[in-house]
Amino acid sequence: MKSNDAKKTVSSVQRIVILGASLAGLSAAEALRSEGFAGTLTVIGDEPYAPYDRPPLSKNVLTGWLPAEHTTLPQSVDLQAEWLLGVPATGLNLDNREVELADGRRFGFDRLLIATGARARPWPDSAQAALDGVCLLRTRDDAAQLRARLAARPKRVLVIGGGFIGSEVASVCRELGLAVTVTERSATPLIGALGAAAGTLAGQLQRVHGVDLRCNVTVMALEGDESGRLRRAYLSDGDILDIDVAVIALGAIRNVEWLHNSRLAFDSHGIACDAACRAFDTDGMVTDDIFVAGDVARWPHPLYEGELLAVEHWGNAIEQARTAAHNMVSAPTDLRAYKTLPAFWSRQFGVNLKTVGLLRFADEVVLTQGSISERRLVAAYGYKGRIVAALTVNMARWLPAYRAMIEDRAPFPPVLHAPDGPAELRPVPAGFPFRGQPTHSPNATQTGPGPSTPPPEESSTSTKVKDPRVPPGFRPK
Ligand SMILES: Cc1cc2nc3c(=O)[nH]c(=O)nc-3n(C[C@H](O)[C@H](O)[C@H](O)COP(=O)(O)OP(=O)(O)OC[C@H]3O[C@@H](n4cnc5c(N)ncnc54)[C@H](O)[C@@H]3O)c2cc1C
Repeated sequence: MKSNDAKKTVSSVQRIVILGASLAGLSAAEALRSEGFAGTLTVIGDEPYAPYDRPPLSKNVLTGWLPAEHTTLPQSVDLQAEWLLGVPATGLNLDNREVELADGRRFGFDRLLIATGARARPWPDSAQAALDGVCLLRTRDDAAQLRARLAARPKRVLVIGGGFIGSEVASVCRELGLAVTVTERSATPLIGALGAAAGTLAGQLQRVHGVDLRCNVTVMALEGDESGRLRRAYLSDGDILDIDVAVIALGAIRNVEWLHNSRLAFDSHGIACDAACRAFDTDGMVTDDIFVAGDVARWPHPLYEGELLAVEHWGNAIEQARTAAHNMVSAPTDLRAYKTLPAFWSRQFGVNLKTVGLLRFADEVVLTQGSISERRLVAAYGYKGRIVAALTVNMARWLPAYRAMIEDRAPFPPVLHAPDGPAELRPVPAGFPFRGQPTHSPNATQTGPGPSTPPPEESSTSTKVKDPRVPPGFRPK
């Protein structure tokens, strides 16, 4: 295509709608204006607030250090956008290029970005979930409510699920001097995100800090008193806990149901898109005018055998949104592939955890630098003889070097000659649960080859809640 045609293509984009007014939506809006887009920009979100930052919600907001309303994300560019907040999109008409809202309004677009993210998976029994004292943690309002409950100094907090959010909540409870029990139905906390080897260390860290950690244990039922106040939890090991607060930390559900009948390819893992962030339709054709970014996207990464990935990472929401924004207003000859490596961080129990790459892809892990006893270490994750991911604990400055090795497909175990490394590298099994086994907050996962043939049981039942009380591997007769 000649450059004149390219200019024509770009100038034909006059109306852009962004669905989801959070991190990815805001990042895309800023990038669109920075790219020189001067047309009409409409941002639609079902929450009543301007975009805010979620990572502080499970950290500084819960400790009381930062009020929940102070998490609003700064806007670095004058967006000159129309903001429609507090109203959900309920449908997408591909033929008319229109988004339908719950209040009946319709918005036409030349380009649409879907950044509807994810929501917290609720407790599967709705009557128990409604008990006063049962909390979720995804939104600003959730965080404000949970903070108020922790500030009231409950006798014991129960955290159901030992993924990242559950572990961070438990860490805050201990920081506040509160008694806390964590139940995790797998063998270790963080097993879906870090594997069993690193998860074992995470479990030790929790216990050293006074968490009553119960692994291979599920919560069978929550019970309240006559006034509907949460009082106790029945555990699968037979124990009964007296509790005032239960935090349901069972991972996230992608916000895709509103796309029902839209002919876009989506399932419970998210909306399938290509490396340019363009959504696929159910015929496996890539759409030219609908883009996806953030937690709701699943896309192919060249380093992980072309499998579609789904991640719940702050950095991904920003970078993918920027790539999508560029591609939304660019000629086909100027499209960029999104191939940033997944990267995540968490702060808990006084340590700073950071990861790069897709840990869950690995079959082995090896300690390469530092030591467990010092709580300063780097671990490399390998798959079929190449390094695919790395984890640092209080040693984040080494991440760029490991990122480069992963991008170069360097051999595993890596040859480092690091002065702070062990005399001999001894890889062990990474210990990830088999694919398809639900864990609490796997955080970054392969979602299959895609794009348009999701298995029948997942295609239209993306909201189906997997009951966390059912032990792993259980098969009904
Ligand atoms: C408590 C917490 C702590 C976290 N900590 C970390 C961390 O330490 N490190 C890290 O890397 N990541 C962390 N994350 C993850 C990170 O915050 C997410 O990856 C990021 O918020 C994803 O942004 P997003 O814009 O894609 O989706 P979201 O933030 O989920 O935003 C999607 C928005 O779209 C809205 N929406 C949904 N459906 C509709 C609809 N039909 N119509 C209109 N609007 C709709 C949603 O309500 C929401 O406002 C944390 C997340 C949480 C919840």
